[in-house]
Amino acid sequence: MPRSQSEVRPAHSQWGDWRWQMQNRIHSADALEDWIDPTDDERAAIEKTSDVFRWNVTPYYAQLMDPTDPSCPIRRQVVPTTDELAGDIVDELDPLDETGHSPVKNLVHNYEDRVAFCVTAECAVYCRYCLRKRMVGDASYFMRTDEHQAAIDYIAEHDEIRDVLLTGGDPLTFNEDNLEWLLSRLRAIDHVELIRFGTRMPVKLPYRITEDLCDLLERYHPIWINTHFNHPKELTDEAAAAIDRLKQAGVPVGNQTVLLEGINDDPDTMKALNEGLVRMRVRPYYLYQAQVIGGTAHMRTPIEVGMHLMRRLRGRTSGFAIPTYVLDTPHGKVPLNRSYVKGRAGAYVLMETYDGTLWAEPNPVPDGMKPPLQLPTVECPADVDTIPIRKEVTGAETNEEEPTAPVSAGEGGAGAGRSLE
Ligand code: SF4
Repeated sequence: MPRSQSEVRPAHSQWGDWRWQMQNRIHSADALEDWIDPTDDERAAIEKTSDVFRWNVTPYYAQLMDPTDPSCPIRRQVVPTTDELAGDIVDELDPLDETGHSPVKNLVHNYEDRVAFCVTAECAVYCRYCLRKRMVGDASYFMRTDEHQAAIDYIAEHDEIRDVLLTGGDPLTFNEDNLEWLLSRLRAIDHVELIRFGTRMPVKLPYRITEDLCDLLERYHPIWINTHFNHPKELTDEAAAAIDRLKQAGVPVGNQTVLLEGINDDPDTMKALNEGLVRMRVRPYYLYQAQVIGGTAHMRTPIEVGMHLMRRLRGRTSGFAIPTYVLDTPHGKVPLNRSYVKGRAGAYVLMETYDGTLWAEPNPVPDGMKPPLQLPTVECPADVDTIPIRKEVTGAETNEEEPTAPVSAGEGGAGAGRSLE
């Protein structure tokens, strides 16, 4: 029978100590019973997936789970089910060919000016959809000091690298001494302008964001952090306090969400998540289409679901609460947008607004100019909404004395209800 939070928390005076949380992670179905009623399927999966992908959960993250609802979005992210063992469309475990883009161990050099440096294979909690299932939790991907140094040497030898992402695994599983070792060496390289962290610690173990850590980060600016909240239930007071400590240290914080079936793939959840992030002063950055990785079919959605979600956000919340929906590929990230821009109709560019209204923006191409990109040629519907412009601009007959637009002014003020003639 699960114990309530109030029963468990006071029992542990070290509850807010991140090291205590790491040392007391839950590793078995029996231990998980302190928090939830695991289903028979969850119990079986914890055992049967143990040689496929590591499993453990921090007590902090476990207390966010609904004890009786197996569809709880926190549970779904981290407690395995036997769906992970069902057949998938691929066995692929490295869909971005990160291995092929790694000149030295755990250093992914895909974009010319940036590298992802997977400094550890350790995480506080193991997300069941993880992009790096092939390496995360696997001891052979942990790095020795000489391997860290080899990656730093590579960065030092490539002066085109201006941006280093420290990722993993989770780099904030390192203690301050190890982080300082890395940061001091990277900062000593003149061409490294920006150091970024990719970490789920504010989500899975916000107590890791200590004052000592923030003091350390502050010494090596510019440091940016991208974290990874997936659901509004993760936006706790503890998480907000961790973000606040980072902000006090001058660290900009962005968020990357993964689109997950049954967890955050509906407009209300996605809107609540992103608005909650903005309230915490975290900028929603990317919404990732879940990568095709064997054993995650039950967590992936068709791309149309994500595109629909994005359409439902646009115009219905603050612009900076809307992330960019992307798919990562071995050739870089692709924004998954159905274009709002339909094409060029003479002196107008025809587009669709968030609510489906067609708008013709007056936007003539100056004589003799060849734009660097050609829009498809389209016809404007006769009743399209627009702003009146002078006839001569569109090639229509000119009336010098009283210029009239080739569009008719309609009712309702600027931009409302006007159409091309
Ligand atoms: S925190 Fe990131 S690297 Fe670690 S298991 Fe989750 S998604 Fe993978």
